[in-house]
Amino acid sequence: MNDFLRQVACCTGATQLHGQDLETVQINLGPRCTLECHHCHIGASPRRDEFMTPQIIDNLLRQLPKIDCRTVELTGGAPELHPQFRELVDNVRALSLRVAVRSNLTIHQDPGMETIAPFLAERRVALTGSLPCYLEENVDRQRGPGTFVRSIAALRRLNGLGYGLSPELPLDLVYNPGGASLPPDQTRLEESYRQRLHAEHGVAFSRLLTITNMPIGRFRADLRRQGNEEGYFALLKAAFNPRTLDRLMCRHQISVRWDGRLFDCDFNLALNLPVNTSHPDVSALSATPATRPIATGEHCLGCTAGAGSSCAGALAA
Ligand code: SF4
Ligand code: SF4
Repeated sequence: MNDFLRQVACCTGATQLHGQDLETVQINLGPRCTLECHHCHIGASPRRDEFMTPQIIDNLLRQLPKIDCRTVELTGGAPELHPQFRELVDNVRALSLRVAVRSNLTIHQDPGMETIAPFLAERRVALTGSLPCYLEENVDRQRGPGTFVRSIAALRRLNGLGYGLSPELPLDLVYNPGGASLPPDQTRLEESYRQRLHAEHGVAFSRLLTITNMPIGRFRADLRRQGNEEGYFALLKAAFNPRTLDRLMCRHQISVRWDGRLFDCDFNLALNLPVNTSHPDVSALSATPATRPIATGEHCLGCTAGAGSSCAGALAA
């Protein structure tokens, strides 16, 4: 039994975590990104060249109508870089499913990408973008020089289309700590973001989502370099909160990797820890039970610490 399950067993008596229902199918189209952030759990960068193939996308589109889910979320890397991105959005919308896109924001400022934002707005696609601080210095330290200024310019453009202003065009921002600490209170931080971004940049957004840095990928390598790996795990373990367990994203979603493999979440995807079934492949997506036993590890402590953490932000007040 891993440290995470030990904490679960200690608080609830359960020795295994199971899925509950399927709300979201998350599709990771590939790890290519225009940025190379310090906290990236996927190891995305402009040098990665893996993309989901047209065959896997076809297979996925055949499976989706057989699944009882409400939302398809496209992520990466930068999902907008996939050659079939627009076609996929249209095909998923044609199935009457809600589409959400996780965007690095700056991509909307890149040459040749100018028409992506109006395309998404026309189709009522929900957007979530990373902005780990309202201060330029902190954002540029995590995500690279010039990222803050370009993110603000992208947010202004998105606001101009109605994103973050109309309930039909949600624009959520994502905060993660700059180092080995837990995020502050989501509601209070959202208020600070709203005031600062409006007063200093004239920018609006829908919600702020706070996310804990997961002890995997580049962030874990940083912890190791700083000799703080053990300390961070101790912090996460001490902050274990059983009230986060019901809303853990693995209990309500499934992730499809660019190579067609199935995972309980994007973190397990990054760790190559597939779903606990005999055939963890997109061709078996509709046959994969929502109530499957979840593949867990010590990294899961990142989702249950403090107020909890997920793609949708904090999990418990
Ligand atoms: S924008 Fe997102 S996907 Fe791209 S490098 Fe940064 S964290 Fe990774
Ligand atoms: S890392 Fe994934 S599997 Fe583990 S608790 Fe978080 S969402 Fe669930």
